[in-house]
Amino acid sequence: MIKTPIPYGKQWIDDDDIKAVVEVLKSDWLTCGPKVDEFEKAIAGYCNAKYAVAFSSGTSALHGAYNALGIKQGDEVITTPLTFSATANGVVYCSGKPVFCDISPDTLNINPELVEGLITPKTKAIAIVDLAGQPCDFDAIKAIAEKHNLAIVEDAAQALGSEYKSRKVGSMADLTILSFHPVKTITSGEGGMVLTNSQEFYEKLKVFRNHGIVKKPEVGPWYYEIENLGYNYRLTDIHCALGISQLKKLDKFIERRREIVKKYQEAFANMPEIILIKEESFTKSAWHIYLVQFDLTKLKISRKEIFEQLAQMGIKCQVHHVPIHYLPFYQKTFGYKKGDFPITEQYYERAITLPLFPKLTNEEVDFVIVSVKEIINANKK
Ligand SMILES: *Cc1c(COP(=O)(O)O)cnc(C)c1O
Repeated sequence: MIKTPIPYGKQWIDDDDIKAVVEVLKSDWLTCGPKVDEFEKAIAGYCNAKYAVAFSSGTSALHGAYNALGIKQGDEVITTPLTFSATANGVVYCSGKPVFCDISPDTLNINPELVEGLITPKTKAIAIVDLAGQPCDFDAIKAIAEKHNLAIVEDAAQALGSEYKSRKVGSMADLTILSFHPVKTITSGEGGMVLTNSQEFYEKLKVFRNHGIVKKPEVGPWYYEIENLGYNYRLTDIHCALGISQLKKLDKFIERRREIVKKYQEAFANMPEIILIKEESFTKSAWHIYLVQFDLTKLKISRKEIFEQLAQMGIKCQVHHVPIHYLPFYQKTFGYKKGDFPITEQYYERAITLPLFPKLTNEEVDFVIVSVKEIINANKK
């Protein structure tokens, strides 16, 4: 028997996760304690990064990363319009301008061939996003960044544990950010992290996360100064304990996610009505979400109708993401409009995110596959 509704994503919490959290609740430190350091070291070690700084969310981690680069009024950051809005919002928090660059139709990641044409004297950084977990072509982006002296921020909120040419995500860009929201690969409830190999960025991030406070014990044990404004973006020991416990299962989670994606890709491979995401041979994706597109020219129904029929069958899908240039804030603030990024728009108008999470059973995966096929077979042109 299949229990519906099936969500598009879901965390997996075991008794050992619960035990880890309860231990912190019984300890002396609920925040600013030893679990923060332990979580940071564990993630940095896993990703082969020199430094890691925990943040209250992936979004505040992005704010910290752009702040570390010194993004300010008048600066431009090139990024993709096909991402969660936080990637671009973080640039705006720093008063910078996100400059969008259309995607590659196969991988749905930023198209490196289009990046160079968008560089101006105001460009400070390229913010790449590993959509669905699949790493961008980092070497291609790196070559452009080096030529024009730009920094690279990697929004790997969807890509913890993914690999690019056998290198772990988190070890390559100037600053990499992660998210531990419950639908992401591992969770701490809410939470995020910035990874970097630069000691300068590391120190800036630690101060920014804690109000901008720099302690001055030479004046007095209580005394501190704030030279640059920061925020309270700290992550608690309670969250970190959950994150540490979850990290131990990450490889198992990824293995199961990859297994499920393989099943989907094989099941839909010979269906001309379904357009699959391309898995690049030089990447190994942790697959945070499973994105498919429907070739609506071959079907009698709309994307919305497919989405609604799946919902009626108990399959609660999503659509990732509403392109950022569709959002009214970005239209009125920066003048973006529908029509600006045709490849992103073509993807978005026909996309659905099918359920993908490690606890999804084979029976449930088969049920999703059969349901999708049923809808398609009933609605061919
Ligand atoms: C989830 C996500 C974020 C934001 O992370 P939060 O922890 O929810 O703040 C940022 N960027 C991308 C690409 C994401 O998927």
